[in-house]
Amino acid sequence: MKMKTFDTLDNGDLVLSVTLNNGPYEVEVLSLGATIHALRIPDKDGKVEDIVLGYDCANEYLLNTTYYGMTVGRFANRIKGGAFEIDGKKYQLDQNDNKVNTLHSGKASLAWKNWDMELVENGDNPSVLLSVDSKDEEGGFPGNCVVTAQFTLTKDGELVIDYTAKSDKKSILGLTNHSYFNITGNPGKKILDNEVWLDCDGVLAVDDLLIPTGEILDVKNTPFDFNEFHKIGERIDSTPAGYDHCFCFKDADGSFKKRGEIKDNESGRVMSIYTDMPGVQMYTANFFDEGSCGKEGKEYTKNGGVCFETQMYPDAPNHSNFPSCIIEANKEYKYKTVYKFSIIK
Ligand code: BGC
Repeated sequence: MKMKTFDTLDNGDLVLSVTLNNGPYEVEVLSLGATIHALRIPDKDGKVEDIVLGYDCANEYLLNTTYYGMTVGRFANRIKGGAFEIDGKKYQLDQNDNKVNTLHSGKASLAWKNWDMELVENGDNPSVLLSVDSKDEEGGFPGNCVVTAQFTLTKDGELVIDYTAKSDKKSILGLTNHSYFNITGNPGKKILDNEVWLDCDGVLAVDDLLIPTGEILDVKNTPFDFNEFHKIGERIDSTPAGYDHCFCFKDADGSFKKRGEIKDNESGRVMSIYTDMPGVQMYTANFFDEGSCGKEGKEYTKNGGVCFETQMYPDAPNHSNFPSCIIEANKEYKYKTVYKFSIIK
């Protein structure tokens, strides 16, 4: 485990990076945005490759809205009109999406903050704890809120993300990690041949601006049915513009379960997704420009990665039929997501 300087921000603050190693597995986490900057995982022949997208410097992370690997909050995904009410009081967030809605909390997103970072003694499983403050009314959110994200790498190839959050006023909360996975190990290659399974029988209906209408559609006989493994590319052309949808887990009652899996037959890599959150936004990097530049000067491509953003449902503050994203004052909330790596048997 080592901490080093990754970059310096314009205001002089240092962006730190911590690398955790366990057996053949390695993860590099940045203080800026509590970001998974690199995730090195062996393939079936033991070849270790980086399987997440990222940038080489802090400014690229800050100037782009791809959110590569970043921890997004206080509320990940979209909120209609950037507005919601709690107990009859209206709150207005930054309308950064098409100038009307809020995406990933706008300018007050936790992704843009340089989090505090400390190494944690954790026996055989190296771990790093990041924490950040978001002030009352910052970006329009009620309550002074403290959020932590702890990343742990186990010997069994699990990247564990433990989140906590506590606000001193009743508020809303929806955290996620925005990693783009390309488990082929080649970030220039599209992920369309990767096969996905999701434990979901519903998907949120959305309008043209990807705002949920409130309706939960049955995935049966649609391109959104991943109850059996399907290649991402198999039915993607039958979706409006690629996958950028919130899938609803079956019987989401807050219990921690295996909820998804992606596998790449060529490299043999498998990533299983476990979470206690109610949904996952599967986003297949639809809005990427061909040839956009990523880490180490590598070219990225449209559909060159896929996000599995375990999260609360988008626009949850405005839909009473969605799992509640309200947090009570001075109560600590905990969530957990695990990405576990293995090899196809
Ligand atoms: C959203 C996409 C958006 C991407 C990058 C994803 O979580 O669902 O619509 O383009 O984040 O901002």
